[in-house]
Amino acid sequence: MLRLATLLIACLAASPAAAEFVLNNLRMTLYHEMGHAVIDQADVPLMSTEETAADGFALLLADRLHSDAEMDRIIRDVTLLGRDEAAAEIFDPWAEYMPGAQRTARAICLWYGLAPAHRGDLARALGMPPFVARTCAASARSLRRAWAPVLERLKPSEADSATLRVRGAGKALHLLAPDIDRLNRMIALPRRTPLTVEACGEDNAFYYHYDDRMVICDEMVDALMRGARARR
Ligand SMILES: [Zn+2]
Repeated sequence: MLRLATLLIACLAASPAAAEFVLNNLRMTLYHEMGHAVIDQADVPLMSTEETAADGFALLLADRLHSDAEMDRIIRDVTLLGRDEAAAEIFDPWAEYMPGAQRTARAICLWYGLAPAHRGDLARALGMPPFVARTCAASARSLRRAWAPVLERLKPSEADSATLRVRGAGKALHLLAPDIDRLNRMIALPRRTPLTVEACGEDNAFYYHYDDRMVICDEMVDALMRGARARR
């Protein structure tokens, strides 16, 4: 862990908080794309847009993979990025995503609802009004109930090898390596799914349904690093 922190700080030449900002937002991007892969490969029926479902899945997965202290830092960093992006966003009523500000609020709401007994103070500090607390806890309970049978079905057996396969190299993949290992110990995708970091011409990440491939764009990694530096 110490080596990872040192590498992060070295590659960003920034403060630990800025380095963590990059890693935490990369983690949530990876978990969101994993949501698309699970929805596609396990043929999960949806009652919302796929993007909203993948957002919920990402938070639930993060909550299973990370400690409470890590989750506090993850939601802070996701909120910082989400609010920055929302400030520059042009509203599109046809977008499959919720508007950015609402998407961030929803993330805080579900994060809080997954452990309401001890997340109230930070939730309020992040702007969550007390009157939504009860519905956030109920939404998180529904989220858990909805995904529990899917995650149970995808639990790796002893014989399963890692199904999310890193291809190529790069700082982002190196930084995410421990999280990818933990992910593979929790979920065996029905089909082998390569993960690459490559240039796409936009600040984004993708799961390609037609050939079971996950891509984090170089441009996203660069934008996160610029955002982290601007925060110093
Ligand atoms: Zn998506």
